[in-house]
Amino acid sequence: MYKMVTMDTGCQHPLCRGSVPPVLEQEGLCPLHFLRQMEAQCSEIRRETLLGGIDGRRRAEIGEFLSTRALILAQLATSGTRLRDDTRPCLLSVFLTLINVCERLARYGTEDRPQPTLTMRANLAAAMPAAGMK
Ligand SMILES: [Zn+2]
Repeated sequence: MYKMVTMDTGCQHPLCRGSVPPVLEQEGLCPLHFLRQMEAQCSEIRRETLLGGIDGRRRAEIGEFLSTRALILAQLATSGTRLRDDTRPCLLSVFLTLINVCERLARYGTEDRPQPTLTMRANLAAAMPAAGMK
C-alpha cells in the first residue's frame, strides 16, 4: 500500500516541488499537501457520517484510520520539521478538524436517542413552580 520514497524524492503531488520530511516519507507528500489531503479525508468521513448507514465495523475502521493520521500529524508537529509560516496555521486547523470528526464519530448513532439533558430540564421545569422558582 505504501510507496517507497527515498530522501531525495519530492512531493508526489502534481506540480509540487516541495520536499518530503522524514516523518512523511511513507505518505510521499510535503507537509502542506499532507495537510490538504488530511483535510479532504476528514471532510469525506464527515460526509459519510452525515449520510448514515455506518456499521460498527466501518466505524472501527474509520476510528483506526483517524488514530493513525492523528499520530502522523502529531509527529509532524513535534519532530522538529521546519514548517513554513503558512503551513503552521493549516496544521492547527487540521488538528481541529480531526477533533471535530472524532467527536462526530463518537456521537454517531446516538443522535436519535432521547437526550437525557432535555428530560432532566423538563423534570426540572416541572419541579420549579412547586419550589416557588421561575
Ligand atoms: Zn507538495
